[in-house]
Amino acid sequence: MSFYDTLLKLESMPLGEQSGQYGRNDVERALSREKLDPEDLLALLSPAAVPYLEEMAQKAHRITRAHFGYAVQLFTPMYVADYCVNQCTYCSFSVEHDFARKKLTMEEVDREASAIAATGLRHILLLTGESRKDSPVSYVKECAGVLRRHFSSVSIEVNPLSLEEYRELAACGVDGLTMFQEVYDRETYARLHVKGPKRNFRARLDAPERGCQAGFRSVTIGALLGLSDWRREAFMTAMHARYLQDRYPGTEISIAPPRFRPYLGSFSPESDVTDRALVQIILAYRLFLPRSGLTLSTREPAALRDRLVHLGITKISAGVTTEVGGHTGGGGTPQFEISDERSVPEIREMLYRSGLQPVFKDWDILAEAPV
Ligand code: SF4
Repeated sequence: MSFYDTLLKLESMPLGEQSGQYGRNDVERALSREKLDPEDLLALLSPAAVPYLEEMAQKAHRITRAHFGYAVQLFTPMYVADYCVNQCTYCSFSVEHDFARKKLTMEEVDREASAIAATGLRHILLLTGESRKDSPVSYVKECAGVLRRHFSSVSIEVNPLSLEEYRELAACGVDGLTMFQEVYDRETYARLHVKGPKRNFRARLDAPERGCQAGFRSVTIGALLGLSDWRREAFMTAMHARYLQDRYPGTEISIAPPRFRPYLGSFSPESDVTDRALVQIILAYRLFLPRSGLTLSTREPAALRDRLVHLGITKISAGVTTEVGGHTGGGGTPQFEISDERSVPEIREMLYRSGLQPVFKDWDILAEAPV
């Protein structure tokens, strides 16, 4: 059994544009329930839910405070390599783009980590482009060993790995995995992923489950909103999260809802995800998955982020650069353009002003793991 089997069944449901069949009664029923089923989720994502956004926001706020209090965890991504063997139509790191690729040495990783840690951050997300040749597991492992000296939590966002490889990294102190499916619609996925091992939809889809089985404390999933019909993509993402939550109660399952941003190429997104649509997605996620983490990235502009932190967000990135070595000089090619360029102290102040509690560290490894 895998989420793939569930996905095949879900594909026969009235998704996306067809969700116009849901009406006010369906939305009101969803709002009145404690545990929502897939039909409720579809109703909350449907056009019929738009007049209910305020009501959804109030309920989402109550649920978030009940499960998470006022805490919002801060983290930042750290790019260590931009070599990639895949051709994804929406990313600067795509193999088709010709630019000087970079990969940090361990001394550079240490310098970059020191610069980030000096801002107070204690949760780090280690990123590479997807290349087993240029960023093999041994390299990720070595980087993680350096990062553990500076941070209490080290997550990874790298190419899909086997269960054994995830176990190997977990044993070295990596405690979190982020794996974006990008697109759940299989036909769109095949079209946008032109070349490389990423074309294997199933291998990617099953990677978060392997992460849970390997013992990672937290696993984050998501679709890149804009690549395909957003209602359908949000529905599949939430169903994937619930699938993982039901089977792996010991793992914190989070969702990140990134929207498409400009990058080196010229691809234009297929689906226009407006601010209002993003709000609807976040609220539907919170109501359907009361105890899931919800992550908000710097792809969103500052003014919007200031409003979204009240709607169920539990993790927020700060002081972000999307280029390799960007915290200590950079000069590389950004994976995509960010929107909110505020520093860590500025984000911390924003959270305080909003009546929220910025949390820099909510996890520590008690036993020393061999590196
Ligand atoms: S999205 Fe990931 S796999 Fe695709 S080109 Fe960019 S770095 Fe490579």
